[in-house]
Amino acid sequence: MVIPENKRQNEPNKASERMPVLFIGHGSPMNAIEDNPWSREWGEWGKKLPAPRAILCISAHWETHGSGVTAMEQPRTIHDFGGFPPELYAVQYPAPGSPWLASRVQSIVHHARVEPDQSWGLDHGCWSILHVMYPQANIPVVQLSLNHDAPAQYHYDLAKELAPLREEGVLILASGNMVHNLRRVVFRNGTVEDFNVPYGLDWAIEANDLFKKLILENQHQALIDYRKLGNAVQMAIPTPEHYLPMLYSLALKGENESVTFFNDVALAGSLTMTSMIIQ
Ligand code: ZN
Repeated sequence: MVIPENKRQNEPNKASERMPVLFIGHGSPMNAIEDNPWSREWGEWGKKLPAPRAILCISAHWETHGSGVTAMEQPRTIHDFGGFPPELYAVQYPAPGSPWLASRVQSIVHHARVEPDQSWGLDHGCWSILHVMYPQANIPVVQLSLNHDAPAQYHYDLAKELAPLREEGVLILASGNMVHNLRRVVFRNGTVEDFNVPYGLDWAIEANDLFKKLILENQHQALIDYRKLGNAVQMAIPTPEHYLPMLYSLALKGENESVTFFNDVALAGSLTMTSMIIQ
């Protein structure tokens, strides 16, 4: 992808300019430190987008009872995974927090009470992407949790209330995977070295294609009611936490905005990296 010359310098976002919304399929935590086609794409977006004032991240890896928002000055880097090489545990992402953004989220969301949180930090759903997109870690980052007890409609409705942030220079980054079934992971040639070789089982491809079709047709209600979408989708979403961030990004799509997909690929049979920018 070629970056226009005038966008290379991460020009500060003008207050009046609406920030795009990203949904990124994060896949393996190793994407944080691996140079591969998916992480390269993340890096390109980091260079291309107007520099955000702050980032609000909705990660599949922070589920709580009720909704919460990180409100500390300096969030810690959470290594919430097991069995990876020491280099990955050594990664720190020392971006500052933003008590301003945390309280702003609390004040604009009326659909639910959003509790300020002082104990979480940045989980790998968030920092594995930002470490690549914004390696300088100088943009404040706040995470919004997923209410584990709430139905999909709650998440979609809550996300709609975040829309004003886009006019305030805040980049909303939703991080999950549209298709994510780790119990069905399979490698085409039987070895983990094949992880980054595109390979999707039939049902994973079918679900991925259906999601993209419904997204492009603005059939948001069908995507909220994903439990009615047939067997392939039930295989794709054994638990909803990696799918729900996608609904947050969709809820923020304005009427005249378009969706562009990238990293549209299935890996390890049963997960897709399919990502989108809404602008
Ligand atoms: Zn994940």
